[in-house]
Amino acid sequence: MAYNTLKQDIIDYAEKIGIDKIGFGSVDPFTQMKARLKAQQEKNYQSGFEKGTIEERTEPAMHLTGAESIISIALAYPSRLTDRPANKRGARRGNVCRASWGVDYHVVLNEKLNRLHAFLENRVPGFRSKIMVDTGELPDRAVAERAGIGFSGKNCSIITPEFGSYVYLGEMITNIPLEPDEMLEDGCGDCTKCIDACPTGALVGPGQLNTTNCIAFLTQTKDYLPDEFRSVLGNQLYGFDTCQLVCPYNKGVDFHLHEAFEPKPDLAKPELLPLLTISNREFKETFGEMAGSWRGKKPLQRNAILALGHYREVSSIETLATLMRKDPRPVIRGTAAFAIGKIGREDSYELIREAMIKEEDATVMKEMEKGLEFEAIYADNGKLKARTE
Ligand code: SF4
Repeated sequence: MAYNTLKQDIIDYAEKIGIDKIGFGSVDPFTQMKARLKAQQEKNYQSGFEKGTIEERTEPAMHLTGAESIISIALAYPSRLTDRPANKRGARRGNVCRASWGVDYHVVLNEKLNRLHAFLENRVPGFRSKIMVDTGELPDRAVAERAGIGFSGKNCSIITPEFGSYVYLGEMITNIPLEPDEMLEDGCGDCTKCIDACPTGALVGPGQLNTTNCIAFLTQTKDYLPDEFRSVLGNQLYGFDTCQLVCPYNKGVDFHLHEAFEPKPDLAKPELLPLLTISNREFKETFGEMAGSWRGKKPLQRNAILALGHYREVSSIETLATLMRKDPRPVIRGTAAFAIGKIGREDSYELIREAMIKEEDATVMKEMEKGLEFEAIYADNGKLKARTE
């Protein structure tokens, strides 16, 4: 089999099926990555969403008998919303990160990789592969870096010369020996914009992330959001783009190459209040296709409540008060109480005190007390007066 010709055929076919960039890498262990992951684990910097052991995450050959090469692919996604919905008082909106704007990229990239597999299966007798998109053991970024898709930025993103870091990544381990591509040179140089812009100090060094402080990770957790991150969250519902937005390589970058990734304005910037009372069925129908729905509605609802608190949106008090009294989930009841206090309508504290009489959950009571603390804050501070309708 002439593998060099085959490699070019793969590149041509990839272009034909709408893969924006393709690269090839070896299946050697990712030794540096292994050391980095061990250090991350020791410092408790991991999210808990990682799949597999450190060995499984850094040794591609463990995932396919006879593994010989890895094909890495990238698809560009848009960074600008053309029909931006207005943010009106009383109909406040939240913010969803760019990577979750269109149809779930896992679906789209898996489909492309499956087509690539079928193409190779038809041409190479005994062809086998293992496909991974984000949720597999191998870190997509390390694979893409090795395959020359882009260099690894200090913000932990893969930065491509063509599409900046606005790319989805996926890979296929194969049992055919394909010539590896060259890695790209590091392009960050002295720049530290992303590290300087990170509001929580989650980028603890170049290419080093303390995931537990990363807003993108925190938007996906289901428990109470720790106090120190609540004001930083603002109106963010899912993910966080700051470390990509400030990167000079993303300046002016906005590719609309795939219909599936076109943002739907009402999903990229959802209205907050309707999200609080959405049923499971409605949530699935409305948000089910987007990557950001993978943890269900609870984290998005918790974040929406905090966003209403951030806006001090007085017209949301009735809905929040109902949640505080009746929602079966303590995190939602407690966060609602906190937001009611933060909004600081004249009757906010009376509402919280009334609900405290019946509340039995200690975590919710703690949040109610935090909500009540705003009463004194607003009373003491001339600028931050309690709000009236
Ligand atoms: Fe590198 Fe600067 Fe981009 Fe950060 S902002 S990834 S340091 S080029």
